[in-house]
Amino acid sequence: MPLEVNCTFETEAAPDIKNLPDLALKLVENAAEGILITKKNGTIVYANNAFLQISGYSFDEALGKTPRMLQSGKHDREFYRDMWDNLHFHGAWQGEVWNRRKDGSIYPQRMAITELRDPGDEGEVYYASMVHDLTEVKHNEEELMHRAYHDPLTKLPNRHLFMDRLEQVVNRAGRKRAKFAVMFIDLDNFKNINDSLGHDVGDMLLKEFSRRLVHCARDVDTVSRIGGDEFTIILEAVEKEEEIGIVASRIQKRMAEPYSLNGNELYITVSIGIAIYPENGETAAGLLKNADLAMYHVKETGRNNFHYFTESLNRKATSRMEMEIRLRKAIRNREMIAHYQPKIDLRTGRMTGMEALARWPESIGKFGGPAEFIPIAEQTGMIVEMDTLIMEKACRFTKEIKRMFNGRADSFKVSVNLSTKNLDSLNILKNLIAIVGDCGLDPREVELEVTESIIVRNVESAINILNSLSRHGFSISIDDFGTGYSSLSYLTKFPISVLKIDKSFVDNLGTEPNARAIAKAIVSMAHGINIKAIAEGVENPEQLAFLRGIGCDQMQGYLFSKPLPEEGMMELLQAGRMLPR
Ligand code: C2E
Ligand code: CA
Ligand code: CA
Repeated sequence: MPLEVNCTFETEAAPDIKNLPDLALKLVENAAEGILITKKNGTIVYANNAFLQISGYSFDEALGKTPRMLQSGKHDREFYRDMWDNLHFHGAWQGEVWNRRKDGSIYPQRMAITELRDPGDEGEVYYASMVHDLTEVKHNEEELMHRAYHDPLTKLPNRHLFMDRLEQVVNRAGRKRAKFAVMFIDLDNFKNINDSLGHDVGDMLLKEFSRRLVHCARDVDTVSRIGGDEFTIILEAVEKEEEIGIVASRIQKRMAEPYSLNGNELYITVSIGIAIYPENGETAAGLLKNADLAMYHVKETGRNNFHYFTESLNRKATSRMEMEIRLRKAIRNREMIAHYQPKIDLRTGRMTGMEALARWPESIGKFGGPAEFIPIAEQTGMIVEMDTLIMEKACRFTKEIKRMFNGRADSFKVSVNLSTKNLDSLNILKNLIAIVGDCGLDPREVELEVTESIIVRNVESAINILNSLSRHGFSISIDDFGTGYSSLSYLTKFPISVLKIDKSFVDNLGTEPNARAIAKAIVSMAHGINIKAIAEGVENPEQLAFLRGIGCDQMQGYLFSKPLPEEGMMELLQAGRMLPR
């Protein structure tokens, strides 16, 4: 709508618009929005203070010129034609305009232009523009955008921006059939650094790491941080596949150099997975997934390496997924059972107890044994539920044995494997006590086997849980002893009653003097701190003789018996004179 304004201008060039009340004039002059009035031919006849401030011109400089002096060159003819069309037809236009200040800098503004008709001036037409400076708004917007698309710690693009870019690269490459690669880079054992040295040092390491990573890449490549210790690189315009391997080796080498942070000299290695377009995926999501799969393969096969995606990795992942789904079902439906392997006292030759080992009936001949399903149960956290289930079944069976042998099996113990995952929460304590109680057993009749990693990690909460378990009467055995890197002084911090010499040493007793020395050392160490030693995986009489000779207390192994189903175990107990007198 044409706005009718009467205005008194103090300058000479001002048109003769009279009678605007002083107040209204003040308002226009001091409004926060910039206001500019031109004649129909474009000559500037008025500019308020805000406008002068935004544009950098003085009143006198602006007067008599046209708004063309403000043009930034950022808009095309089409833009101005559209503006004028609107003004002619509707008497108004609004939109965002980039203008140029007197000092040459350009700035964004929101502009609303209205046609004015002065009734006192024979209907002469003026245009009034109201402008709002958007510099700050734009700046904030940009900052918000930056924050939404970048990782605040390393300032690298985040997962979001990475995926955007990857999609763009896929589109571009698709047209040109150009090769490129996605690299998935994961730090090895980064959690240990965070856990042992704190998050500040962890953050410093990540910053330095990303700085090095950017250096290793070429300018055209996009380096992103898509997760805690997960980085990606899009390697564009790859001519030969060898180039990718060269970059990967360069990254590995550079990252392996020491980091000196906060007085600490740190070392870290990386696992790298690589997917190449278009062979290993034709979409952004597919490429990322396959690079991740290849990285995962590196982790599984010893870390500190790089690997290209292959179809067989894909098949492996699919069957793993299938296995995971079935395993979850089997645990829920309580289909997992235990087999039991006798533990023999080396002095008396009698059975002192048995170890419960998880078996998945459905898996036999299909998915493989515990060596395959236990790691999956651990990675997915299902192990906690599984261990509890095995514990329940094993305790119930043990009670049955005790009943059957009516007093003769009182000192007979059942051992259950407990994944360290169980020791992350105090719940396990209540659970175990409840299970043992419900079966009518005493915790003194139950041994828990945990691996040495619990000592290596030395997590305070795990120590507390083990201490409570021990106070409640459970005995604790360290499984696979000698394979980890536990500091021996830690052993005394834990309420341990048995060290189990790992099968790998027992296997080599006949051939390796080192294995014999280690077995001997473990036995004497155990006796030195007043606990027992047991050897697992004993398969032949020579091994048995050696172990007896060094004073090892107990043994387990195929030489005496494989793990047996419940009936087999019952038969064994009934047939011989296996129980202690
Ligand atoms: P582990 O606890 O060290 O168990 C000993 C493994 O060695 C068992 O394998 C056992 O069957 C096998 N073994 C025993 N004697 C001999 C021998 O003389 N020769 C050979 N070659 N092998 C022998 P299994 O049952 O396949 O279990 C493998 C691993 O899976 C176990 O190692 C344990 O770490 C884990 N596991 C098994 N059941 C459970 C469970 O219920 N919970 C948890 N958390 N882990 C379990
Ligand atoms: Ca064990
Ligand atoms: Ca073991």
